[in-house]
Amino acid sequence: MRLSRYFLPILKETPKEAEIVSHRLMLRAGMVRQQAAGIYAWLPLGKRVLDKVCDVIREEQNRSGAIEMMMPTIQSADLWRESGRYDDYGKEMLRIQDRHERDLLFGPTNEEMITDIFRSYVRSYKDLPLNLYHIQWKFRDEVRPRFGVMRSREFLMKDAYSFDLDYEAAKVAYDRMFVAYLRTFQRLGLKAIPMRADTGPIGGELSHEFIILASTGESEVFCHRDFLDMTVPGEGVDFGDGAGLADIVRAWTTPYAATEEMHDTAAFDAIPEGDRVAARGIEVGHIFHFGTKYSEPMGASVTGPDGRETPVFMGSYGIGPSRLIAAIIEASHDENGIRWPASIAPFRVGLVNMKPGDADCDAVCERLYAELEAAGLDTLYDDEDTRAGAKFATMDLIGLPTQVIIGPRGAKSGEAEIKDRMTGERQTMPIDDVVRLLS
Ligand code: ATP
Ligand code: MG
Ligand code: MG
Ligand code: MG
Repeated sequence: MRLSRYFLPILKETPKEAEIVSHRLMLRAGMVRQQAAGIYAWLPLGKRVLDKVCDVIREEQNRSGAIEMMMPTIQSADLWRESGRYDDYGKEMLRIQDRHERDLLFGPTNEEMITDIFRSYVRSYKDLPLNLYHIQWKFRDEVRPRFGVMRSREFLMKDAYSFDLDYEAAKVAYDRMFVAYLRTFQRLGLKAIPMRADTGPIGGELSHEFIILASTGESEVFCHRDFLDMTVPGEGVDFGDGAGLADIVRAWTTPYAATEEMHDTAAFDAIPEGDRVAARGIEVGHIFHFGTKYSEPMGASVTGPDGRETPVFMGSYGIGPSRLIAAIIEASHDENGIRWPASIAPFRVGLVNMKPGDADCDAVCERLYAELEAAGLDTLYDDEDTRAGAKFATMDLIGLPTQVIIGPRGAKSGEAEIKDRMTGERQTMPIDDVVRLLS
């Protein structure tokens, strides 16, 4: 992409309404724009990151055996009356009436709808296990939307729903998602700690929140230091091996970890003082096993091998891709801007032409731009005639992993300067080696 043709509305001033660094940087880097309280437009740079985050989530969901679909944002109130949550959900639910005065709502989550879909088609245990997910916008009328997309009213969620014949099988489904989550957050460059959590209005008995430690986090969390260097299962992990998954989950749930609501002071104080971590955290994912809480009232049942009909055992599993982007920036930035992990950077390379109009610079940059793109390295090519200082400031602000800088002298002598945004390291190398080094 040529910067001269792109839409990248960089803000020079620090927006004063933004209280935390990720919000400030997302506004300054032209990633998002607030359209109403807690409702954001995703500008091109932000949309690229959002798509990349969703791709990582999708790959790991698919790897674990979950199947993607898409449910609507608008739901009928009747389904929620069946489960009893229409009244319980309270003011966070945005309630709507259509022209026929039928009650609708903008979905804050999809347990009811997926249960309705399941009961319409599935009759037999032979169709289980089943895990269906979608990545869709949700609306929750938060009392205090704040921190940009960290706590917005409209936000994106990946929500998956598992269906199994009995508790044991449902526990395997839970473990599968647990492991998929560990892998997802690791690939996004985050250290997420699974913490025993309150099940809240979704209900149920088994639940973990995945928490990123960050000083700007809204929850108070407590855990054992061991979590900071535990190894996440590799790509080859066997999602068909229930016992193997249970071992991984056991290892990741044995050291102490709890959010404020579930905190047990005595258990925490039993940890040697040097190993205690009391910090603030951001909830980026949440998984629940809730058994028959929805299947029973809504009549979602299957016939088992013995011919008897039983309500299906369910779980639900959420990740907030839009909040995650803010959390990643909280974890990875410096005073000059964002430092994207390569897995989700909006572009892999920022190619900087220091002197557009200079024949050598233009020729080298055009050639490199074509070669980088051909090698599959998404490149943002700064071909604009602006001051050097402004070019560098923009590149650092938007945080692309590698900057390739071409000035008139280097263009003549055949040398490029490469800057690694994560480490700040700079090196000079032959222009002909650049593409090979980066691919
Ligand atoms: P919170 O405690 O922050 O209000 P929640 O517990 O209400 O979140 P869940 O119902 O567990 O959220 O939803 C699953 C995921 O959706 C959360 O872990 C989070 O990543 C994301 N999420 C929830 N609410 C918001 C929001 N207002 N803005 C952005 N993402 C959100
Ligand atoms: Mg909430
Ligand atoms: Mg929560
Ligand atoms: Mg939650």
